[in-house]
Amino acid sequence: MNTLFVPDLLWDGREARRGWGVVVAGDRIAAVGPLGALDAPGGRRVDLADAAVLAAPVNAHSHAFQRAIRGRTQTRPAGRPDADFWSWRREMYRAVLAYDPETLHAISRDCFAEMRSAGWGSVGEFHYVHRDRDGRPYDDPLTLSDAVIEAARAAGLRITLLYVAYATADVDGSPLGDDQRRFRSDSVDDVLRAVSDLRDRWAGDPRVSVGLAPHSVRAVPASWWRPLADGAAALDVPLHAHVAEQVREVDACVAVHGRRPVEFLADQGVLSERFTAVHATHLTDGEVRLLAEAGARVCACPSTERDLGDGVLPGDRLSGAGVPVCLGSDSHTLIDPWEELRLPEYHLRLVERRRIVLGEADGPVVRWAPGALRSATEVGGDALRTGAGRLTPGAPADLVALDLAHPALAGADDEVFAEVVAVAARAGVARPVTPLPDPQTGDRSEATSA
Ligand SMILES: [Zn+2]
Repeated sequence: MNTLFVPDLLWDGREARRGWGVVVAGDRIAAVGPLGALDAPGGRRVDLADAAVLAAPVNAHSHAFQRAIRGRTQTRPAGRPDADFWSWRREMYRAVLAYDPETLHAISRDCFAEMRSAGWGSVGEFHYVHRDRDGRPYDDPLTLSDAVIEAARAAGLRITLLYVAYATADVDGSPLGDDQRRFRSDSVDDVLRAVSDLRDRWAGDPRVSVGLAPHSVRAVPASWWRPLADGAAALDVPLHAHVAEQVREVDACVAVHGRRPVEFLADQGVLSERFTAVHATHLTDGEVRLLAEAGARVCACPSTERDLGDGVLPGDRLSGAGVPVCLGSDSHTLIDPWEELRLPEYHLRLVERRRIVLGEADGPVVRWAPGALRSATEVGGDALRTGAGRLTPGAPADLVALDLAHPALAGADDEVFAEVVAVAARAGVARPVTPLPDPQTGDRSEATSA
């Protein structure tokens, strides 16, 4: 049955519209436009009071279990000022060794539920914990992937499980450490089989899809990249990798391969419109050009990059070259799409000491909000190849409503979408619009409070 949703305001991906609605049929958007041009024959009309609706943001990069260590990693030993990504990673490895399928499911479910309540409609889960605590494969080698997928389903979040290939400890091919034993992939064929099997296993659920994620130039042998990229193309799935998050990784890549990470991946045939470079913090102009020429995109995770002291995304150079940027909450120090989408601009303001660094021309002014919203929504859908993040017929019906009665948005009126980009705190501002039954209650009411 069709449902026509009628909000006060609708963000159509370009501008705020009054008197517009969205028709949803099952899991998909059927139509978007002025109310006079829409009808829902035999369907329902749901008026969303005090609501400004947009396509739900897409969280394109997540490691759900890392949410569990966000508090406990906020200390460092006294007298040791060198706490950084690498010391944080030791804590993360320690945490990983404790999980069994049930606890991983529970931790992931909490994370996904927080994401959904904050406004995200879907997630790309970059999943690399594959083996049991002793480093042995489970009888069903996809046990932990399934546990994470089931967690997203329980939380009512659309998921793309990005199955990770992980085989070495560093760029020089050194073997995995004992604390990395749960991540290990034995071969390219094993990885491609896992992706293919996961895809077949979940083919009946339109809210579950899969992708392939060679972890990084540190964790994937040089000889694996080309067959993995070819495999992703043959399976027609998204291809993601961590790229140039840390200077040490860039230096190691130059030392071993004589090439910086993006240059190396270009040599291996990895860059394409299928490819998303996660972080891409430390890029030369030449590397930016390589990404642009290939039609690849970048996934920034600015709250995590801030937490780990990674560096500042070169968002101005990427947008200048036409490289789209999507967003992820990655380690989940913060789970808030509205904060995530504003940080790339605010970080650059501090570095460059000017304002509206990432805007785009609109007549006599340069606007920041439309591009920021596009990063949070449609570019993420492109990265996961789900079509999410767009209000277009056939796209997944992931909608979110901003609460115009919330004190943080009072008086915003038609500027609400610019305000939510620039200023609004997350808590209570957004609620999912749920045309599907609520997974917890079975309630079919359309605009549940988060
Ligand atoms: Zn990551």
